[in-house]
Amino acid sequence: MSATDSDLVHLRRCVDLAREALADGDEPFGSVLVSGDGVVLFEDRNRVKGGDATRHPEFEISRWAAANLSPAERARATVYTSGEHCPMCAASHGWVGLGRIVYALSGAQLAGWLAEWNVPAAPVAVLPIGEVVPGAVVEGPVAELEAELREVHRARFR
Ligand SMILES: [Zn+2]
Repeated sequence: MSATDSDLVHLRRCVDLAREALADGDEPFGSVLVSGDGVVLFEDRNRVKGGDATRHPEFEISRWAAANLSPAERARATVYTSGEHCPMCAASHGWVGLGRIVYALSGAQLAGWLAEWNVPAAPVAVLPIGEVVPGAVVEGPVAELEAELREVHRARFR
């Protein structure tokens, strides 16, 4: 896809959050929730180093949205994320009725890199968001951020 300027602003924040996670010993993923009016509502980054492998930012966004937004507000909101949702996070997105997703890096791209770097496969299947949430409006990957994200993920395994 070719991202708009405002999409790129939010995706670059996701990359910054991913770098923050990496620097803190977590996995390099970050996500931002933006309202239908363009206001950043919530952001988070991966927090799995404590041993809970479900602490993905997209899952936190779904929970935050369920607690704080009406169904109509959720549907108008956009989730930006440095890496495409895993099936767990995609399901949470679908269950709480959030709107558009824009990801920088696809799950398939990342899986390809991990295989190239001989990293053991994840215990959960890599599925496109649309296979988990058939009605989801999904955009990505964003070529402008691919090289940078490859380096961020590569750094995790050096
Ligand atoms: Zn996830």
